[in-house]
Amino acid sequence: MDTQQFDLAVIGAGPGGYVAAIRGAQLGLKVACVERESQLGGTCLRIGCIPSKALLESSERFHEAHTGLAAHGIRTDRVELDLAAMLQRKDKVVQLLTRGIEGLFKKNHITRFTGTGKIAAGNTVVVEGGEQPSELRATHILIATGSRSAPLDGVELDGDRIGTSTEALSYPEVPEHLVVIGAGYIGLELGSVWRRLGAKVTVLEFLDRILPGMDAEIAGEAHKIFQKQGIGFHLGCRVTAARANDGHCVVEAEGLAPIRCDRVLLAVGRVPNTEGLGLHEAGVAIDARGRIEVDEYFATNVPGIYAIGDVIRGPMLAHKAEEEGVACVERLVTGHGHVDYATIPGVCYTHPEIASVGRTEEQLREAGIEYRKGVFPFLANGRARSLGETAGRVKLLADASTDRVLGVHILGPRAGDLIAEAVAAMAFGASSEDVARVCHAHPTLSEALKEAALAAGTGAIHA
Ligand code: NAD
Repeated sequence: MDTQQFDLAVIGAGPGGYVAAIRGAQLGLKVACVERESQLGGTCLRIGCIPSKALLESSERFHEAHTGLAAHGIRTDRVELDLAAMLQRKDKVVQLLTRGIEGLFKKNHITRFTGTGKIAAGNTVVVEGGEQPSELRATHILIATGSRSAPLDGVELDGDRIGTSTEALSYPEVPEHLVVIGAGYIGLELGSVWRRLGAKVTVLEFLDRILPGMDAEIAGEAHKIFQKQGIGFHLGCRVTAARANDGHCVVEAEGLAPIRCDRVLLAVGRVPNTEGLGLHEAGVAIDARGRIEVDEYFATNVPGIYAIGDVIRGPMLAHKAEEEGVACVERLVTGHGHVDYATIPGVCYTHPEIASVGRTEEQLREAGIEYRKGVFPFLANGRARSLGETAGRVKLLADASTDRVLGVHILGPRAGDLIAEAVAAMAFGASSEDVARVCHAHPTLSEALKEAALAAGTGAIHA
């Protein structure tokens, strides 16, 4: 077996792993990265964030051409869907980006191993299932193997009619009736895609609200908007079974009559990929939820073995994994490295988008923290008016005594981009007055954040 020596061996080339590998190489380490898939980029690039965003963009344009352009004085007599072309475009976007990472690996002299990496004794990673078995000896091993869709008891995944987000990115035809289990990020994003393309979409959610973890007021407003878009919801509804039979499916949920549909999307969360890595044999500790236990510097209990991203605690988000990968590797090389978990944004790319950073009103109330709240509706924002995108609002929460920004929650056009300013403000410890006194170009959507900051203080100008 071929044996090579490295400073850092990364297992997994998703956003956590590939970014850590690049940062390590930039800092002078000799780096290897092991990935079992032929394409680099992990779930995010291949079967997650990127293809879903490509489809969200295409389906929104289709929907707008159908129903939204007339308001702008543009008549479109006939709009037709070419689903095959839409799916091909999505695949091309993915292909270009995954190739881009291959290029970055070459540029940074990172040695790529295709196959399944397994930790063996003495800080060794064995790569199997690829072109040829290899053995990597590494001073540091970083586990960044990500997560996979969580199964649900009674739901029989058949990889076709009843599937996860992976199948829902490539349905060969628009389903007549799609039942989505779970009103989280994946359920709402992919449910929106197929609703826009013409499917009847029914979302079944266990809790009595959508988007658990997001600010309840903002999620409640979003829920009403999605209902107006024609998505059906049953909240407080626990799914107990789903079966495919003869070209259709039946879904059973407590309190509902069985639902007959032609496709089912299971989106009830994700579980960490920790199997087959040799963790038990290596003595790496796992917590009660199956995640790898790490300290604040991402070190496991076994010297020389580290873990980041979806396999450890915290939100399962690509950008959180990236931050952790960089912090972990920088700490190894420079002695410093830090992730500010209080300022990790979350974005749901529906239409309108929903974006959030910091604490929600519920969390502040629960912690007994006195706060002031500033709200500004996009209805009163000139740019939103000209775009014809007036649904939603910006909500800013500031500490009642220090005025420090504690949380920002946005429902509205390009919320996912707008949240970046709020993240930067919070990262620099800004007060709501700081945000309000920064000059924002007019007319832009970003003025809504300035106005919400004003509303938290002495009053918004335009509302
Ligand atoms: P999620 O945790 O966001 O939502 C899952 C939902 O399923 C929850 O609302 C939960 O209450 C519900 N549920 C659980 N059991 C149920 C049952 N038996 N019947 C009905 N409902 C049930 O999970 P997800 O949407 O699958 O996303 C998985 C992960 O991927 C999340 O951690 C998310 O952060 C990440 N993700 C992020 C983005 C983004 O950042 N835009 C997009 C997609 C996925």
